[in-house]
Amino acid sequence: MSASQAAGMPLVVAIDGPSGSGKSSVSRAVATALDAAYLDTGAMYRALTWWCLDQGMDVTDREAVAAVASSAPLEVGMDPDEPRIGVDGNDLTEEVRSVRVTEAVSAIATNLDVRADMRRRQRALIAEGLAARGAVVAEGRDITTVVAPDAPVRILLTASEDARLARRAQQDLGTADDGAKAATRDRVVARDALDSTVSQFTTAADGVVTIDSSQLDFAQTVAAVLAVVAEARMPSGG
Ligand code: C5P
Repeated sequence: MSASQAAGMPLVVAIDGPSGSGKSSVSRAVATALDAAYLDTGAMYRALTWWCLDQGMDVTDREAVAAVASSAPLEVGMDPDEPRIGVDGNDLTEEVRSVRVTEAVSAIATNLDVRADMRRRQRALIAEGLAARGAVVAEGRDITTVVAPDAPVRILLTASEDARLARRAQQDLGTADDGAKAATRDRVVARDALDSTVSQFTTAADGVVTIDSSQLDFAQTVAAVLAVVAEARMPSGG
């Protein structure tokens, strides 16, 4: 890493990971700690999905969805203390987490025309965040590999399938016993399998640091990410 980055030059922290890896909450906390902007790219795919469903569209109609994607009036708030997502004046911050959206989002996200459009928007938002705060934490499935492959910090946040299922079950069902994990399993595994057909987020690409959070609690995971950032900001060669 160059000395200029140590001296406070723009910083992009790119974080990818599968469902249930904890990347959203960890990325938010990291952004807060760095006083950086926070970009949740999954929320963008979710908001576009909500918009298509709201218009009664068939989410598997690739051409129609791509046409809508290019003009969807997405509104993305990047304050890590109050991240917001909306479309055309509708605040969807809660709504995009619904089962209805979660079950349909991969059909939209595997549309390659949609991805090209999202990539453009996400790069523009990263530039906006850099201009506003000098640093951005951007998280998703293809940030380290496609959206920001030149980011000075690139991290793949993983966890064992059991740990991820336990977290998702706790989040969605309020318990992480075996029954809750089994009920969560199909949704998580099926979504990751479909998402994996268009993005690489199960193994780290060259130059991407893997953090396995299976045995780490939330604070330890945030600390591990911040340690990678701190190391990247140190001038090379001492
Ligand atoms: O991270 P989150 O679960 O909110 O992401 C929702 C969906 O958005 C993923 O299942 C995936 O289909 C899509 N996504 C993507 N590329 C990203 C971020 C999310 O395809 N960079």
